[in-house]
Amino acid sequence: MRLLLMGPPGAGKGTQAKVLAARLGVPAISTGDIFRANVAEETDLGVIAKRYMDAGEYVPDEVTNDMVRERLAKDDAHDGFLLDGYPRTVDQVKTLDEMLAEQQHPLERVLVLEVDRDELVGRLLKRAEVEGRTDDTEEVVRRRQEVYAEETAPLIEIYHQRDLVVSVEGTGEVDEVTERVLTALSSRDNAG
Ligand code: AMP
Repeated sequence: MRLLLMGPPGAGKGTQAKVLAARLGVPAISTGDIFRANVAEETDLGVIAKRYMDAGEYVPDEVTNDMVRERLAKDDAHDGFLLDGYPRTVDQVKTLDEMLAEQQHPLERVLVLEVDRDELVGRLLKRAEVEGRTDDTEEVVRRRQEVYAEETAPLIEIYHQRDLVVSVEGTGEVDEVTERVLTALSSRDNAG
């Protein structure tokens, strides 16, 4: 299964990506996690990415696209993947299309987690306390919501036009949301 997981920052993408990928038997590929690992290891990529991440801005497309291209070329992504946090811009959508066309493996579903905007900011500020992420301060949290609304929310329409979108309410316990997603995916598959 080739799946994208979309939704605003704080919608629970990271948590759901890991659980869903395990249930579906595909690797969860999170661009945010790959950037964070590079920041922690102080690689050249990490040094570049950190500047943008700490400001709540997107890492430039070229850098992000090259990183994803390399990751999707690995063996474990050959038969499917769940991409979490990518694509986030129109340019990234085009690049992903090209990558998948080369592999002759089209995208099967775009899962959108929907969560009320007020709840998102609260969730992110709580996560800041628990995880100590440097991009979870109130100012950066608000900026990340703005960037999502401007750059990423419009992508949902692109995938709607391709009839790939499955939207699921992301509020509630982790297990409940996972079950909701799996039910939505299978009823969608049954509907063709
Ligand atoms: P996330 O963990 O998905 O919220 O990502 C954390 C941060 O990593 C984002 O705020 C961006 O700075 C950066 N990032 C993650 N994915 C992308 C992407 N697809 N394009 C550009 N920047 C990204």
